[in-house]
Amino acid sequence: MAFTDTVRNGYQTEIEGIKAAGLFKGERYIHSPQGSEIEVEFPVGSEIKKCINMCANNYLGLSSHPDVIAAAHAGLDSRGYGMSSVRFICGTQDIHRELENRLTGFLGTEDTLLFPSCMDANGGFFEACLNEQDVMIADRLVHASIVDGMRLCKAMQDTFKHSDMGHLEEKLQEHQDKRYRMIITDGVFSMDGDTAKLDQIVSLAEKYKAMVFLDDSHATGFIGRTGRGTHEHCGVLGKIDVITTTLGKALGGASGGCVSGRRELVEMCRQRARPFLFSNSVAPVIVAGALKVMDLITISTDRRDKLEWNTKYWRGLLKEAGFDVKEGDSPIVPVMLYDAKLAQDFAHGLFDEGVYAVGFFFPVVPKGQARIRTQLSAAHEKHHLDTAIKAFKKVGEQHGILGLGKKELVAKYAS
Ligand SMILES: *Cc1c(COP(=O)(O)O)cnc(C)c1O
Repeated sequence: MAFTDTVRNGYQTEIEGIKAAGLFKGERYIHSPQGSEIEVEFPVGSEIKKCINMCANNYLGLSSHPDVIAAAHAGLDSRGYGMSSVRFICGTQDIHRELENRLTGFLGTEDTLLFPSCMDANGGFFEACLNEQDVMIADRLVHASIVDGMRLCKAMQDTFKHSDMGHLEEKLQEHQDKRYRMIITDGVFSMDGDTAKLDQIVSLAEKYKAMVFLDDSHATGFIGRTGRGTHEHCGVLGKIDVITTTLGKALGGASGGCVSGRRELVEMCRQRARPFLFSNSVAPVIVAGALKVMDLITISTDRRDKLEWNTKYWRGLLKEAGFDVKEGDSPIVPVMLYDAKLAQDFAHGLFDEGVYAVGFFFPVVPKGQARIRTQLSAAHEKHHLDTAIKAFKKVGEQHGILGLGKKELVAKYAS
């Protein structure tokens, strides 16, 4: 069938529908490297504006770190630009295996396999390791890529209410007849910044003979005393059967992901995970950069310590100013506004004041839970946060919302 006018009109109507619902996502062009200060063109076609970035996953400030860039340059020179192959044909260099071993050591697991992305790791893992005799029991707020990976797997799918251990226990009891049970959770949940109750999850897993799957993309490198992740934070290092995580956030932020965990599970992925078998190797330049990242985060905890300090300081500033901030101790700090339009207007107001933060609303978060999600970085200096809070206060005053709690905020915008 050709792309006829009828087909085109059909899609145009759908796109108009997205716009009419206020859900259209416009792009913003960034004209600088990623960092705590960036140059942004928004809306497209307008003048480029310098602003403080409060919404990157650049938790450790390594996205443009000079040592990482230098290592990537050296990797480019010594191992070339592209692999032009998947891993099992001719896409595995010594440095791919070296990075896998470094990740295994850092995460405290038995083995690791790189994937083109964590989306791919999650997309491939379940199908490779579970079948119709098994059950997957996932927290209801797990990342979209886990939901997709579960859909591709023949094992039975079930969920438990977010972080509700009583409900998880019921589900584990219900599924005792299955061959294998797998509990599936994110470590730090990206929208609320809250942390999974991994210690309790591990206890339940032991009691009901289940495996534990953890996606630690928003934690690897900085959560826990030495930044190993949510399992370190919760005191269950070595007890998680599978960890998936990304190189695309704290660990340099380029791209790439991995499955790390029990030797046999990793081997099943090496044999059977389709995104591993059928998509290109992580580029050598990224592998070389990531190896430098592993050096930097194992030599010292300075960056994750600074991130922790920045997070506490920023939370304090927001609360003092009278914002409704979601509790938690991750560097994801949501400023609750509840109303979708307010969240959008607020983000625009912040941008006018030189602060880049994005409003989140349905369907990314539940209806009536709109917010500005701020994210801290070790690349932020105190003066960035002091400047940013001035913008938040100014825009907050303009909207008359400072000091309002949830009830008052919801009432003010209910109409
Ligand atoms: C970002 C993220 C991913 C995807 O990572 P990519 O490597 O960018 O594909 C997967 N899971 C979670 C929980 C994430 O936050």
